[in-house]
Amino acid sequence: MNIILLGPPGAGKGTQARHLVEERNMVQLSTGDMLRDARTSGTEMGKVVADVMDRGELVTDEIVIGLIREKLEGTHAGGFIFDGFPRTLAQADALTDLLAATGAKLDAVIEMQVDDAALVARVTGRFTCGDCGEVYHDVTHRPAAEGVCDKCGSTNMKRRADDNEESLRQRLMEYYKKTSPLIGYYYAKGQLRTVDGLAEIDDVQQAIAAILD
Ligand code: ADP
Ligand code: ADP
Ligand code: ZN
Repeated sequence: MNIILLGPPGAGKGTQARHLVEERNMVQLSTGDMLRDARTSGTEMGKVVADVMDRGELVTDEIVIGLIREKLEGTHAGGFIFDGFPRTLAQADALTDLLAATGAKLDAVIEMQVDDAALVARVTGRFTCGDCGEVYHDVTHRPAAEGVCDKCGSTNMKRRADDNEESLRQRLMEYYKKTSPLIGYYYAKGQLRTVDGLAEIDDVQQAIAAILD
């Protein structure tokens, strides 16, 4: 099964994707994570995208489609979760073609609906485990022991430079201009499903499971 998790920054896409990886043997393809890896590994592409990401703008379609294309070369039995991709109509069309080329298809697009007003608190409280990538929040999802990852025991917690209110506003602007048209696009294709992203993490999990089953 191949699915897209669609929603603005802070909607909970990464949190739900990680759960699906654990529960259903799916593979998470987060273009945001891939781009951040490219930055820290100092590749040419990483240098090119750094300023764009820091400004909260979208990286070019060509770069992100290239990243996804590489990952889709190998097939995977459990299927893929596209997290933060596609973000433009051109990316959506490219995804359709890339999947078709491997004889695969998209099974569902899950829109995570949230109020914009909730997003500032979501992203400004976000931190992640630098070793396993588990996503935490200062208020809604703290590790059991302060500063220690529940999943892997690491104390290497990280915050993203772009998780501040100013950058969020810019990212939200990009979302409304370029990404939100995908909601209508997938609705028209009959593939759109929605969940209430403001519900508790476990309840969102259950709503997504109900769609996938
Ligand atoms: P969030 O989790 O807050 O939605 P991401 O980690 O998905 O953010 O993305 C972080 C940044 O990486 C974006 O602001 C953008 O600059 C870049 N980026 C990620 N995915 C894409 C994409 N599919 N197309 C263009 N830019 C992207
Ligand atoms: P996205 O990948 O869509 O940008 P994340 O999964 O990184 O979003 O979640 C953003 C922040 O909100 C994280 O700190 C996460 O722990 C928290 N969070 C995610 N889902 C929920 C939820 N349903 N209720 C409360 N907090 C949540
Ligand atoms: Zn960890």
